[in-house]
Amino acid sequence: MAAAMDSPLPIVTRFAPSPNGRLHLGHAFSAIVAHDLAMEAGGRFLLRIEDIDGPRSHPELADEFRRDLEWLGLEWEEVPAQSTRLASYEAAADRLTERGLAYRCRCTRKQIAALPRRTGSDGFEYSGSCRETCGPADGQGPAALRLDIDRAMRAAGEVVWVDAYAGSVIADPREFGDVVIVRKDLPASYHLAATLDDAADGVTLVTRGSDLFDSTHVHRVLQALLDLPVPDWHHHKLILDDDGEKLAKRRGSPPLSARRDSGDDGLMLAEQLRLHKTEAGT
Ligand code: GLU
Repeated sequence: MAAAMDSPLPIVTRFAPSPNGRLHLGHAFSAIVAHDLAMEAGGRFLLRIEDIDGPRSHPELADEFRRDLEWLGLEWEEVPAQSTRLASYEAAADRLTERGLAYRCRCTRKQIAALPRRTGSDGFEYSGSCRETCGPADGQGPAALRLDIDRAMRAAGEVVWVDAYAGSVIADPREFGDVVIVRKDLPASYHLAATLDDAADGVTLVTRGSDLFDSTHVHRVLQALLDLPVPDWHHHKLILDDDGEKLAKRRGSPPLSARRDSGDDGLMLAEQLRLHKTEAGT
């Protein structure tokens, strides 16, 4: 028993694509980074389909994703998709509301952007907040749930997170303002759902692209408020296209499925991406 207690926790990583569009090279890279980190440590690699993006979400793409990963030669364990976990998002949102850490807001993005910025006692410029007006109002119609970032940070205390490259980072999500944790049209925001799911899935090493580095400030504070276990993070470098731009679905980079259909060798592509990983040092 003592030996089991002394042994380090197994590494559990995950790839968590949203079926909003087909997977491209950047996704393949991200999946390989997560897969290999787990496999090298004798751990587990999970696939989680993040399918709660309303009309933007096309669940039928999930099958394409599985075929893409298989084509790349990856093996994974699939955990329940986000659409099956709505009750846990609602319970967490209620908990934050009951503690006075979140409030309902009916503003549009445009209205929020037009609010005057506020300067805190430490000189930090917060984005405008409607918490004084929206918070106490109990209007009708769809409302988002926003975290009261001042209260949330006070309640969380100083919390730190550890990234493979950046080292120890003090969580400071103020740049997000009173960040939305439940969208008007959806049962959760990305921040709340991913944070809860990573905890529920026992993820010990969150691997994702460095474009999501800043989001981790929000996630770390949510973990502190919701008493969730704290993983480590590995924000890998992004694959850039020939113009040095991030490879994004919307910019028309060829999806993996098109390469697959045209007879490209997925295993060879995976090896090229591994070589890139080594060269890029990520
Ligand atoms: N569903 C998110 C995406 O596709 C994943 C974010 C994450 O890995 O935390 O961008």
